[in-house]
Amino acid sequence: MRKCKKCQGMMFPERVIDMLDGLIGHFYACANCGRREEAANCIEPMHTSETLSGR
Ligand SMILES: [Zn+2]
Repeated sequence: MRKCKKCQGMMFPERVIDMLDGLIGHFYACANCGRREEAANCIEPMHTSETLSGR
């Protein structure tokens, strides 16, 4: 489990989906102070062609 650099609290993985650009952002959010940290390879394109249909 990743630890927050600021308060040493537990950080949980969080996924943010950008439907407009078809991107998925990966973050870690601290359960204690709410600090967000970008994960490695934090931005990646969506793999499912379903979500991109109609563009
Ligand atoms: Zn924290």
